[in-house]
Amino acid sequence: MINLRLIFGTQLSESSLIDLNKNTDYILMCELMSEAQQVKHHKKKLVLNFASMRHFAASLLERGYNVSYVKIDAEGNTGCWEGELRRFLSNNLVTNISLVRPNDYKLLQQVLTWKDKLHITINLLDDKNFLCSTTEFAQWAGDKKQLRMENFYRLMRQRYNILMEGDKPVGGKWNYDNLNRNSASDDLNIPDCYKEQPDNITREVITVVGKLFPNHFGDLEPFHFAVTRQQAVLVLRHFIRQRLTLFGQYQDAMLQNEPWMYHSHISFYLNIGLLLPMECITAAVEAYDNGMAPLNAVEGFVRQVLGWREYIRGIYWLKMPGYEKENFFNADNSLPKFYWSGKTAMNCLAQTIAETKKNAYAHHIQRLMVLGNFALIAGIKPEEVNEWFLVVYADAYEWVELPNVSGMILFADGGYLASKPYAAGGSYINKMSNYCKGCSYSVAVKTGENACPFNYLYWDFLARNIDKLSGNHRLRMIYSTYNKMSAEKKQDIDNSSATFILRMNQGLDV
Ligand code: FAD
Ligand code: SF4
Repeated sequence: MINLRLIFGTQLSESSLIDLNKNTDYILMCELMSEAQQVKHHKKKLVLNFASMRHFAASLLERGYNVSYVKIDAEGNTGCWEGELRRFLSNNLVTNISLVRPNDYKLLQQVLTWKDKLHITINLLDDKNFLCSTTEFAQWAGDKKQLRMENFYRLMRQRYNILMEGDKPVGGKWNYDNLNRNSASDDLNIPDCYKEQPDNITREVITVVGKLFPNHFGDLEPFHFAVTRQQAVLVLRHFIRQRLTLFGQYQDAMLQNEPWMYHSHISFYLNIGLLLPMECITAAVEAYDNGMAPLNAVEGFVRQVLGWREYIRGIYWLKMPGYEKENFFNADNSLPKFYWSGKTAMNCLAQTIAETKKNAYAHHIQRLMVLGNFALIAGIKPEEVNEWFLVVYADAYEWVELPNVSGMILFADGGYLASKPYAAGGSYINKMSNYCKGCSYSVAVKTGENACPFNYLYWDFLARNIDKLSGNHRLRMIYSTYNKMSAEKKQDIDNSSATFILRMNQGLDV
């Protein structure tokens, strides 16, 4: 009689092994067609997941665990969890199945049906890879109508005693964002990102992904992601030594042909368990303590990992099911085809989409202020925007993608997650990047054929949604500017927006 531990592809950490008995228990890991195809993930994400799983399984075997591993192309692979469990149970006398509670709503619902379907005890273990449990988050959220990340973040700093001097924040301030909004000049010497050479295991996965998923979005090669815990730790060290110092300063900056900037590139590994949030936070705080990185950079990084990441995950579990259907503005335009092809005259979007296709990565400000901002002000359906973001990034999982897309960029929850929509015209993109220099549109022109579409779509978005937004105190000044515009100017905005949206919806070049 054996106990069976399931380990999902996002649970590649020591905490998935808690209470396992090497002599009697079994581990089952599966690469499943249902998971690879339900969302048609970027090819690089599939390689990252399967290669990391295979390396993790190999390390467990080396350490003496009993591991049953089902490859995507293995004979008899049924392609779904239920099928694989039935196969395993029919060949082994299993008394009990245990697994770390999945961090995905639909998968959890599936797991909860297994007890009745398979007539076996299912034991769910707590997910130790987050710093705020879903219960604690729900208690904090209580019945507040709107949540604010900043309040949550301060509590988390105090709770874990991170960058604190007694009960005061180090340096006297909780937030150094005002130092973190520099634009970048094109002569910056940005270090190359970490590049791992694929070994035989990863090569085999690259071949099989190329064969089985040729029509999925994105470039398969070159593939340079880390795929083991040791390699992921090197990515973290690389960031702390080479990029953290300037992470804060250039956090919001974008440069043509610089997809990685001074960001950490650790979300891929955090989200599958190869890195843990507290070790990333500790590494950054140590760099500050040792005088290797300034406070604005370290605080900025800590806020992302201890604040935003935990806050986003808390909201997901609080709002599911139902969050995926929210559409506060009733946005109803279809996602334009250029989100897939990158073929658009808007250089900021063309650049970001090309980099996404190549790397399965775009940094936060590209996702927020270019891709997200456009989807918001052009009134694209949340469902389609969510689908796109879930497909194209190697770090995308519904728990983190959905609140970022529906809550942060589209304001589809009416302001539960964010205090105001992150909408902006072309001047913001021009200030924070050098994209506009190489664009066929002119950022200085506000309406008409040559005008930057962000300029008029921004005002059109505000005008369209005046009933829903004019009461927002953070938008009061902006609406006051809009109200002072001449009727003629407002009409120009309306005409330019209508023409652009019509062309976009007809699939014409924009
Ligand atoms: P850095 O900029 O170096 O930040 C460090 C870490 O902080 C990240 O690795 C991440 O773990 C965490 N973090 C920062 N911001 C957020 C945030 N808003 N939400 C959650 N964690 C955050 N992140 C994902 O991991 N998966 C997604 O699918 C995802 N989709 C996004 C979609 C949109 C529209 C937006 C605006 C953001 C999304 N993010 C997502 C958050 C963020 O953009 C990525 O975590 C970040 O770009 C990953 O790159 P990095 O590791 O270099 O991050
Ligand atoms: Fe983007 Fe407008 Fe600048 Fe072109 S001009 S790159 S569309 S912001």
